[in-house]
Amino acid sequence: MFKKILIANRGEIACRVIKTARKMGIQTVAVYSDADRNALHVEMADEAVHIGDSPAAKSYLIIDRIIKACKQTKAEAVHPGYGFLSENKEFQKALAKEKIVFIGPDAKAIEAMGDKITSKKLADKAGVSTVPGFMGVIKDTAHAKKIAAEVGFPVMLKASAGGGGKGMRIARNASEVQEGFERSTSEAKSSFGDDRVFIEKYIEQPRHIEIQVLADRHGNTIYLGERECSIQRRHQKVIEEAPSPFIDAKTRKAMGEQAVALAKAVDYVSAGTVEFIVDAKKNFYFLEMNTRLQVEHPVTELVTGLDLVELMIRVAAGEKLPLKQAGVKLNGWALESRIYAEDPYRNFLPSTGRLVRYIPPVEGKHVRVDTGVQQGGEISVFYDPMIAKLCTWAKDRKAATAQMRAALDAYYIRGVSHNIPFLASVMSKKRFEDGRLSTNFIAEEYPDGFSEADLPAQEPTTLIAVAALVHDAYARRVAKISGQIPGHGRIMPDTWTVVVKHNGKKDEYPVWIAPKQDESDGIGGGTAKVGKKTVQVKSDWTFGAPLFIGEVNGKPITIQIDREPVGYRVFHDGAQLDLDVYTARQAELARLMLHKPPPDLTKFLLSPMPGLLVSVAAKEGQEIKAGETLAIVEAMKMENVLKAERDGVVKKVYETNGASLAVDQMILEFE
Ligand code: ADP
Ligand code: ADP
Ligand code: MG
Repeated sequence: MFKKILIANRGEIACRVIKTARKMGIQTVAVYSDADRNALHVEMADEAVHIGDSPAAKSYLIIDRIIKACKQTKAEAVHPGYGFLSENKEFQKALAKEKIVFIGPDAKAIEAMGDKITSKKLADKAGVSTVPGFMGVIKDTAHAKKIAAEVGFPVMLKASAGGGGKGMRIARNASEVQEGFERSTSEAKSSFGDDRVFIEKYIEQPRHIEIQVLADRHGNTIYLGERECSIQRRHQKVIEEAPSPFIDAKTRKAMGEQAVALAKAVDYVSAGTVEFIVDAKKNFYFLEMNTRLQVEHPVTELVTGLDLVELMIRVAAGEKLPLKQAGVKLNGWALESRIYAEDPYRNFLPSTGRLVRYIPPVEGKHVRVDTGVQQGGEISVFYDPMIAKLCTWAKDRKAATAQMRAALDAYYIRGVSHNIPFLASVMSKKRFEDGRLSTNFIAEEYPDGFSEADLPAQEPTTLIAVAALVHDAYARRVAKISGQIPGHGRIMPDTWTVVVKHNGKKDEYPVWIAPKQDESDGIGGGTAKVGKKTVQVKSDWTFGAPLFIGEVNGKPITIQIDREPVGYRVFHDGAQLDLDVYTARQAELARLMLHKPPPDLTKFLLSPMPGLLVSVAAKEGQEIKAGETLAIVEAMKMENVLKAERDGVVKKVYETNGASLAVDQMILEFE
């Protein structure tokens, strides 16, 4: 076995590989860029080597620097994680030349599968069913229109070198083919430096279901069941699970055997994933093979009990797989939620900044957190804004979902926006509960984007009662201050007025409480009456604790509670509620406070995200019709077209092509 390995990656996956290496008694070397100087993976590794500037192209993607770091630290093998150099055949070859082991497949398999057109042809030859379409390069727009008509609408235009859901467009008619072809080609060129695009049939109501394969150098290739990754936004996975609620044993076996056949056709070694698209009739078609560890591999680990990173390392060291196909057993149900630093209320725009407070849920039998950040760390603009992967396991899907909801409630993140409200909303949907998934799930369940209305219905009584009890505890502590003038001590009321502030509206609730008296450092709980409802609360919450973990009317509950300069901000089930707790007199005075309405920004086109202004299509004085393109902003390798929401005349254009934009920066103004 290796004595020392280097991890050519960052973030959660670097941390995850280090954990397994440590368990195996292998020393670890981390590499890092300027921006990652203080990153968690650097802290966790035995050694760390600085490899360059913050942009990945100037550090994590430079093959020579990684090789130099290996030589310098005498690392015998490299784990590439996912993304970066993981599917780069030049990297594999360069390592081989230096006799450093690549913990992954050989260059030949990476090359064959790295290109979507080539791999599709290969799969077809290996007897794997592929999506009907044209397996060649599209020459120009006219060619694209001709092929699309032959394949039959709707079609999918795809960059052959694509990945991460980029360079892909659906077209439902000839004019969409035109726009889609241009966009896909330009995106493919800027993201992958390769503008080849091909066309295949768009499978309606598709599910994304993939098979994990594992192979050693002794001719053993097995599959470890499937993962369903249908909950996607813009073709990028958000929630994954294993097994799939849709797949029966027969389909699983058929998909597994085709995946194994494909792996064998390219002499595959190590862990890999064969992705399929599955239609409503359980017909499945090959999409692509990812020749690396997949982001969502933890759900497979949770249901098989295997450590995929350990097996990758063992296989790379020449060991035989410790199990045969018959030895693969699936146990229970696992879910994964990708926690991203993005603002779900603003069309999921990436949010960067410092994690001012960061407390992931406690791990255990039911909860696994793969994270690459810690409190005080930064989510930078340079890399993927994923904060963590939150996985839950339970005996069945329903229980795993309940565990996920509880774990999301306990995930405490401050300083950057995150998608937990959105994830909580998905978990609460009836359609999710029923397992009626498709890659259109998000588009269909959130036709107008995500908003507060999509959150699970809240019973505010519980949150109001908890806020009143917490406030009462604070007030009691203040009332106990020493040196008070006798006879002038504070008199504690037994009824508080809780004001719920929401969308500029204020609702007042008188709350009568009877707290447990014997607690000095927090609350033990108590009884609260909100209107006609009586709530019994139990908790060992202490002063200042960010999480209120307890029971309300006998049901376990976790609420995040922030004490604000005035009032409280509580979070539960994805919702945020601002509450003020007043005495009767304070409430009376608060009613007299003036309200300042927010300024009207509807006349401005603001950049919805930080990015590059590729072009401004509108000119000063121009008349614009709703739906017309105003500007194109590039961010996260995606070109975002900003269209007019209604008719109007452009008064002033503030920015020119090539400008670098901050979020909310004014691009132009209407009359
Ligand atoms: P998975 O199928 O494991 O979910 P993805 O296809 O989403 O993997 O990609 C995994 C990671 O690698 C993501 O962070 C994605 O942004 C990144 N990635 C994948 N392919 C590319 C590529 N060709 N260029 C840049 N980033 C990529
Ligand atoms: P990437 O390399 O970016 O991961 P994939 O080929 O794996 O690209 O496709 C990503 C996602 O796009 C799939 O999970 C699926 O949701 C959707 N998709 C791809 N091809 C098709 C198709 N032919 N029909 C319907 N959906 C598709
Ligand atoms: Mg894919």
